[in-house]
Amino acid sequence: MHEVGIMQNTLAMAIAKAEATGATRIHQLQLQVGALSGVVPEALQFAFETLRQNTIAAEALLDVEFIPATCWCGACRSEFQSPDLLFECPKCGTLASELRRGRELHLKSVEVS
Ligand SMILES: [Zn+2]
Repeated sequence: MHEVGIMQNTLAMAIAKAEATGATRIHQLQLQVGALSGVVPEALQFAFETLRQNTIAAEALLDVEFIPATCWCGACRSEFQSPDLLFECPKCGTLASELRRGRELHLKSVEVS
């Protein structure tokens, strides 16, 4: 389960960020997770709940923002979301020429005090 490793890095990053500002508590972490990042949000949440123990984030909440895969069709110049990970344009059937969103995996914000 690579979510544990990802969460370990994310949490370490958040703690370093908090400590750099002199904060002693983390209240909330906001993560953006793309549909194609290969990460399961539920698994991330589970890893977080285990890893936050005995850290300054022990009572923090994890907010996962799921970013659907969004493609761009160059043929009919439209953007479309691809829930089934098939990058075929629903309007004209052309394969998408570009993936615009969906690979995100990053810490968006950390709320501390
Ligand atoms: Zn199209």
